[in-house]
This record gives sequence, C-alpha cells and structure tokens, in this order.
Amino acid sequence: MTLSDELRTLYQEVILDHYKRPRNFGPLEPHDHEAEGYNPLCGDQVSVYLRVQDGVIEDVSFEGQGCAISTASASLMTEAVKGKTVEEAEGIFDRFRKLVTGEEGAGDQLGKLEILAGVRDYPVRIKCAILAWHALHSALNESGEAVSTE
Ligand code: ZN
Repeated sequence: MTLSDELRTLYQEVILDHYKRPRNFGPLEPHDHEAEGYNPLCGDQVSVYLRVQDGVIEDVSFEGQGCAISTASASLMTEAVKGKTVEEAEGIFDRFRKLVTGEEGAGDQLGKLEILAGVRDYPVRIKCAILAWHALHSALNESGEAVSTE
C-alpha cells in the first residue's frame, strides 16, 4: 500500500494541508531547548526548538524533512503545545503516544491530534507520527539528545 493510499484513509486534507504549509516551521531564535529526531525506517528527520519561560512553552518551532505524516504531526504538535506548561505538554505527549499506538488511556481531549489516530493501523507510520513528539520530549527533558525511532 502506498503512502497516498494510506493517507486516503486518514484525514487526508488536514494532513496534506499541514504537510504543504507546516505551522511554526523554521529556526527559533532565541531558543533554550532543542532536540533532533530521526526515523531511519522512513528517512524522516526533525529538529524541535523551544523557548520556555517560567515553565511555560512560550514558543516552539521545527525544521526538517520527512514524509507527509511526520511533517503534519510535527506541525500539529507545535500548535498543540505552544502556550502550554511543560507539564501539560508532557501530558499531551503521553496521551498522543497512546492514541497512535492504540494503547488505553489516550482520553478524548486531543482535539485535532485525533486526526492521526488512523496511523495505528499502519505500524510503519506510527514512527513517522510520533517522531517530533519524541524530539519534543527529549528537548523538554534537557537531554537534548538526538532520538531515533529505531
Ligand atoms: Zn515518515
């Protein structure tokens, strides 16, 4: 099954919109947290930058190259966590991870992110969808280490 077939069964329009016009795309200056992520299975690569003040994510951006799902997920991630506290962002990361892996406990307050729930039917794509979130998690935890989905 090709990526476009998979996308057809997801919310194609929203994903393609975020792929073609990614939100919060580009470097962020100044920033105080960053991390890179790499998904060798698909070749997706993402860098996440954050500016955190008093425990609140004031601004967030990402750069990189990847497939439609990884780019759209990164774009949606920046929208979801901007203005949130670090704690809230980690909570969203945890629920999003459960959502796309089909684990219990994702809850029903993920809003637009639920668009990506369909990837759970395509195990290869789960890594694309979660890549930017792993990078976010690494950046917030100061490790700043490059994360790999492998
Ligand atoms: Zn991908």
